[in-house]
Amino acid sequence: MEIKIFSLFPEMFEGPLGSSLIGKAQEKDILHIDVINFREYSTNKHKSVDDYPFGGGAGMVLQPEPIVSALRDNLDLDDPDTEVILMSPQGKPFTQEAACALAQKKQLAFVCGHYEGFDERIRAFATQEYSIGDYVLTGGELPAMVMIDTISRLIPGVIKEQESYEEDSFYHGLLEYPHYTRPQNFEGMEVPEVLLSGHHENIRKWRKKESLRRTLLRRPDLLEHYEFNKEELKLLEEVKAELAETE
Ligand code: SAM
Repeated sequence: MEIKIFSLFPEMFEGPLGSSLIGKAQEKDILHIDVINFREYSTNKHKSVDDYPFGGGAGMVLQPEPIVSALRDNLDLDDPDTEVILMSPQGKPFTQEAACALAQKKQLAFVCGHYEGFDERIRAFATQEYSIGDYVLTGGELPAMVMIDTISRLIPGVIKEQESYEEDSFYHGLLEYPHYTRPQNFEGMEVPEVLLSGHHENIRKWRKKESLRRTLLRRPDLLEHYEFNKEELKLLEEVKAELAETE
């Protein structure tokens, strides 16, 4: 996959995208990441890319020309397999489902805002607009890194076992079950017996049930849209009965 990032602060990406799994994916040629500083596309002698807002008010607004010139120079804006993603607190909430859809694309471009944000007319050149949460960051760089990290681990070959992300929280709509490793007893806290039994079917069922319990307790909103199978409905009833007993 080709990833192009449009940012005024390219140096911010060096550490997070140059190391760990994403760094390795670039070495293996699974991912190609370019960071383009759209300040280079400014046509004025001070290389500025922002100006005062029409109508007055605080803060500076990113002008359309440098960003649009940078996009045109580095992307084929008519390619249906290229998504131009504007980072914005006003965008659609970024989710695991969105990450899975974006991981199928050939090319992704991330446009990082700054200051008060973008001149409204830049939106005409984006195909998507995403927010990483209901809060406002200084710039779009950290949100772009969050999205790139999430999407990259879904691309075949980036992480070793496909299972390790398919069982993750959100992938199938639930939170993941609890994990345990050695020691078996840590300061009096024991690993659940079933995980030591070697009985694969019982372990699978326990994990499913604990995943449902966790989701019910921590994120009941996720269950509102979840499509339960028969076994899951039965396990959820068991969880609810157990919780009612302890109330
Ligand atoms: N004035 C804008 C507003 O209220 O919608 C916020 C501007 S913010 C200080 C500067 C830039 O940071 C935005 O243009 C966007 O690129 C990025 N940004 C801030 N919060 C974000 C979020 N939650 N998700 C994605 N991008 C965000």
